[in-house]
Amino acid sequence: MSDMTSAPAAKLTLPDAQTVTAVTHWTDSLFSFRVSRPASLRFRSGEFVMIGLMGDNGKPLLRAYSIASPSWDEELEFYSIKVPDGPLTSKLQHIKVGDEIILRPKPVGTLVHDALLPGKRMWFLATGTGLAPFASLMRDPETYEKYEQVIMMHTCRTVAELEYGRRLVESLADDPLIGEMVAGKLLYYPTTTREEFHHMGRVTDNLSSGKVFADLGLPPMDPATDRAMVCGSLAFNVDVKAILEGFGLREGANSEPLEYVVEKAFVGDGV
Ligand SMILES: Cc1cc2nc3c(=O)[nH]c(=O)nc-3n(C[C@H](O)[C@H](O)[C@H](O)COP(=O)(O)OP(=O)(O)OC[C@H]3O[C@@H](n4cnc5c(N)ncnc54)[C@H](O)[C@@H]3O)c2cc1C
Repeated sequence: MSDMTSAPAAKLTLPDAQTVTAVTHWTDSLFSFRVSRPASLRFRSGEFVMIGLMGDNGKPLLRAYSIASPSWDEELEFYSIKVPDGPLTSKLQHIKVGDEIILRPKPVGTLVHDALLPGKRMWFLATGTGLAPFASLMRDPETYEKYEQVIMMHTCRTVAELEYGRRLVESLADDPLIGEMVAGKLLYYPTTTREEFHHMGRVTDNLSSGKVFADLGLPPMDPATDRAMVCGSLAFNVDVKAILEGFGLREGANSEPLEYVVEKAFVGDGV
């Protein structure tokens, strides 16, 4: 006799699934989204995790993503590129509130306060989606407890590509948790390379020419006082490292804290 009990309903929930709670499209090539946070997930602001979707072959399609929200936030935020034929982002860019993504709760990374020696001034240096780890660190009280000044240099091709970062920085002043800590301490220096803007030029050029120091009324970098975190394309990271080394800063790591740390914003040549 056949078993007449009905089969359980197909389980739709993905392994390590988290639910999308918000999606914002900033440009044709950039969007941000928020997801539920696994109760067990602890991370240090600046770290990254693997996230993704189930691929057509039934296997998870995962990529590294910096967590853009601070460690105290009850949800997780991500800031993403849309690569037109990218295996993950060609699909991920279509997620909607209520959809599920896969999130492996194993945070890692070098853009953490623990990987630097104490200092007075912190430089966050980013291009494109390399802003993401600093979106987390700029919202973390520890950043303002540890440093007297925090400088966020972010370069994109166009003004629209800066908008996520601009809004985020603007929102900090009204933030009940860190608004007062941020006031007067955070210096925001966005620049464009292809569209007219009040500040233009690459992070590298503005550092090596001394323009950013003159514009912000700061002394040149000094290994005794200045610390830096770098996140951009491989070429950007190589160029910035050379400039920081020229100022006498040395690359640190979780295992050996020094004066600066670097992380790739993505693998490949990119834009
Ligand atoms: C440590 C780490 C952290 C990362 N954090 C983020 C993040 O916070 N946000 C994010 O959007 N991506 C991030 N990335 C890149 C991410 O892992 C994927 O590469 C990206 O989501 C595209 O996936 P894909 O499968 O669509 O295309 P892929 O096959 O992964 O990439 C295709 C090509 O697109 C270009 N590309 C990929 N990512 C970017 C990017 N972010 N900016 C410009 N060009 C890119 C590269 O040329 C790459 O070869 C990170 C990568 C690393 C290594």
